[in-house]
Amino acid sequence: MKYLFLTMASITAFSSLQAQQPQGDPKATEVWTPVPKIIDAGSATKAPSDAIVLFDGKDLSQWENAKTGAPAEWTVAGGAITVKPKAGDIKTKEKFGDIQLHIEWRTPTTITGDGQGRGNSGIFFQEKYELQVLDNFNNVTYSNGQAGSIYKQHIPLVNASRKPGEWQTYDAIFTAPRFNEDGSLASPARITVLHNGVLVQNNVELKGGTEYIGLPKYTKHGDGSIELQDHGNLVSFRNIWVRKL
Ligand code: MG
Repeated sequence: MKYLFLTMASITAFSSLQAQQPQGDPKATEVWTPVPKIIDAGSATKAPSDAIVLFDGKDLSQWENAKTGAPAEWTVAGGAITVKPKAGDIKTKEKFGDIQLHIEWRTPTTITGDGQGRGNSGIFFQEKYELQVLDNFNNVTYSNGQAGSIYKQHIPLVNASRKPGEWQTYDAIFTAPRFNEDGSLASPARITVLHNGVLVQNNVELKGGTEYIGLPKYTKHGDGSIELQDHGNLVSFRNIWVRKL
């Protein structure tokens, strides 16, 4: 019996060794083209070489009033743009589809208001889908309306908020929705967001355009601007760049 056992074990070992041998041609699964473009990776303060810089700290030449198309009136100072209450939302002159966006934002050091009234702004993708900007440091509000939320649709995975007055970052990968000829939805928008380098939205599916009241729904549209919200609070932005995907 012992002899038989050893023989069986040897056969099993040989079989498994055989199974581990590579079969066929490894080159058959190598993909050589396209070759990913080589870029300078940049840093928190420097945009990648293939990015479109939307605000370089100097002027609002690439932005306009979101409603009227008139020149954007927000305040430019100290390398940042700051909401000018009642001046209205501003948006990029250029329209975008799928993008990677980097944007830095800061809520006021002096705390005024609470809940949604404290350091509120927002970044709308294609003028419709809001990634919430809010001072959520020791400030309670509804979860699906806090910083890092896709407003009224997706609660952030964590609250990665820094103190008011400190610069914070968003890095987002936005996939635009696709529509059929008849206006129906072919595929929903999706978004991944890192807040201060921490994943807060993991490729979530958007339910439609952001609604303050009622449920979101999709309406057919093409490429759209990036829009920054004037919610009446002195929120600042800097170092804004996008990469088209
Ligand atoms: Mg907002």
